[in-house]
Amino acid sequence: MSDTFDADVIIAGAGMAGATLGLSLARAGLKPLLIDPVLFSAQLAPAFDGRSSAIAYAAFRQWRALGLAPLLEPHAERIEHILVTDGRAPGPLAGGSGPFFLRFDAEEIADRSDGEPLGYMLENRHTRAGLAQALEEASVEVLAPARVTSASFDERAATVMLADGRALRAPLVVGAEGRGSAIREAAGIGAIGWNYRQTGVVATVKLERPHGGVAHEFFLPSGPFAILPLTDQRASLVWTESDRRAAALKAARPEVFHAHLQRRIGEHLGEARVEGPVFTYPLSLLLAERFCGPRVALLGDAAHGVHPIAGQGLNLGLKGAAALAETIVDAARLGEDIGSEAVLARYAAWRRFDTVTLSAGMDAFVRLFSNDNPILRLGRGLGMSAVNRIGPARRFFMQEAGGAVGDLPRLLRGEAL
Ligand SMILES: Cc1cc2nc3c(=O)[nH]c(=O)nc-3n(C[C@H](O)[C@H](O)[C@H](O)COP(=O)(O)OP(=O)(O)OC[C@H]3O[C@@H](n4cnc5c(N)ncnc54)[C@H](O)[C@@H]3O)c2cc1C
Repeated sequence: MSDTFDADVIIAGAGMAGATLGLSLARAGLKPLLIDPVLFSAQLAPAFDGRSSAIAYAAFRQWRALGLAPLLEPHAERIEHILVTDGRAPGPLAGGSGPFFLRFDAEEIADRSDGEPLGYMLENRHTRAGLAQALEEASVEVLAPARVTSASFDERAATVMLADGRALRAPLVVGAEGRGSAIREAAGIGAIGWNYRQTGVVATVKLERPHGGVAHEFFLPSGPFAILPLTDQRASLVWTESDRRAAALKAARPEVFHAHLQRRIGEHLGEARVEGPVFTYPLSLLLAERFCGPRVALLGDAAHGVHPIAGQGLNLGLKGAAALAETIVDAARLGEDIGSEAVLARYAAWRRFDTVTLSAGMDAFVRLFSNDNPILRLGRGLGMSAVNRIGPARRFFMQEAGGAVGDLPRLLRGEAL
């Protein structure tokens, strides 16, 4: 690294995607610099992010390869079964569900997944805490609180401007600051997308009865409703509603919220007691027109933001982090210029097709399932029955959800860089 540079790679945004990339680069001997307006300590506060994420087993292997297993495994719940039901009325587990459902069992792909579950459920705050500790132990520099406002690009470097007037230079800047990416804008990369006019209402509940490692997803006319297993007999609920109904739910008194919730879950898991605050997240789709340019690459939600219907957003970002880290590290070892467009085009080519296909698929899924049209209901029901009956199709979906298909970067195969 030249003396005139502040780092090999400046990463704007120390969210879960940016932090994973920073750790991967540091483990391979490069010098990343992370910048975030929010201190890690504030990101860990219970009121900061109430979400939990379903992490595909391949993405979890990547964190293991980065040495995060002792920090994350105690908080990770194995997803052994996924049950998808096409429901019509609230109270799906109480018998309001339709006749069509899909069932996936980890056992069925155990020979190909080395006995891994279908995925792991992890509370985002534990993942953030694990990443923060690992970054600190690896002596990765994190500038926080500091906000990136813009960037400029020349032949040799990207210059990143901060809100406090500082300017930092590196051969490459990665925009990983989420959907409103300042780096994406500075690089002149457009984005397409739309608002679903749906909001994800998220709450963590303590269950009276064991969940048995089952993740339930109910497709209801207002949008999907998921009950996702967490450690300690708890579950994360993601309840998709119209913006108006979601606002009313969030504002409801705790006993009113609880009554709605219990009706929706049914009695199968006994009483569900809400722990901590109820969170709401507006849902939209965003896809950057390009994933890179000279001296710039986009990662995670800055490049693609999808509906959480299949829990794929962060998984896409983690796949991207693995592919980008491998591209940069391999180029550096060959003595190539890591910020050159020729190098970064390899990352874009690796990830773009998969990402666009998945984003389009999720979008079609949301439209197909978030309504009560009788013809669409029949079509999707028949589709689900067909997948359920055809073993290879079911196994394909499971491996796809596990993130273990396609040309996998080394980290996703569980190997070091
Ligand atoms: C209800 C819900 C449930 C979900 N469930 C799942 C799931 O089960 N599985 C899954 O894979 N995905 C899930 N997702 C998607 C997932 O949460 C996101 O894809 C993921 O958080 C994106 O991570 P990121 O690091 O790319 O971006 P972010 O999490 O948005 O992080 C961006 C970071 O950049 C920082 N930043 C912002 N502006 C600046 C700036 N100007 N300068 C520097 N830094 C900046 C922010 O402080 C933040 O730390 C869900 C999403 C929702 C809404």
